[in-house]
Amino acid sequence: MRLPGDDARKILVVLRGTPGDSLEIVDSGGRIFAASLVVDGPVASASLRAELAAPARAVLEISLAQGIPKGQKMDYVVEKATELGIARILPFSAERTVGDGERAGKIERWRRLAKSAAQQCGRADVPDVAAPLDFAALLAAFRAYELVLVPWELAAPIPLRERLPALLGAARRVLVVIGPEGGFSGDETRAAEAAGARLVSLGSRILRTETAGLVATAALRYASGDL
Ligand code: SAH
Repeated sequence: MRLPGDDARKILVVLRGTPGDSLEIVDSGGRIFAASLVVDGPVASASLRAELAAPARAVLEISLAQGIPKGQKMDYVVEKATELGIARILPFSAERTVGDGERAGKIERWRRLAKSAAQQCGRADVPDVAAPLDFAALLAAFRAYELVLVPWELAAPIPLRERLPALLGAARRVLVVIGPEGGFSGDETRAAEAAGARLVSLGSRILRTETAGLVATAALRYASGDL
């Protein structure tokens, strides 16, 4: 099969692939094949050899709703969320979102970054990056999850180590919701709770918005035996 232009360029130019190199090809359904690289001028193809066993699935399917941060910070969030196995990234705007106007055209960039981060970390699936939601649409999206965690710096300071086992229970689909730089308003945390979310503390230090989701995800992975 012929490799699409951007993948071919990456393999031939960035990774300096030569004919016969081993490749792993992942199709859109997440099936993985061992293959060899075939090069014909600028055209790169993969000659499939055998299907490989699918890697074990993570115990938890974690999605990350991220209050859209300023500037390029979302790039970092997308990259790190992909490495941590986040299934879906839901960018959203809230009352205290700053620089809302800057995001036009960014969604395609985030999707491209998710794809290259998935390739880099050897992930068979690319996390889905949803179109940006407003806060009401985010609340409506809670329904699709068995557990919605909203880290809030003013939540009761009970260690996650104590809370997570009971909160997780048998849940498999989890959503972590992180506020933008300005955090959540009191109205927003109340509305989130009314929509079924659980407010949790991530400790006594205020984490930056691009740090908080990674910390919460790592804690969930650890608690569920995924690390
Ligand atoms: N502007 C706020 C902090 C916002 S930090 C202030 O200065 O008080 C951005 C987001 O990260 C928050 O909305 C929250 O979801 C998360 N966060 C950061 N530190 C946290 C902590 N210690 N506990 C829980 N959530 C935290």
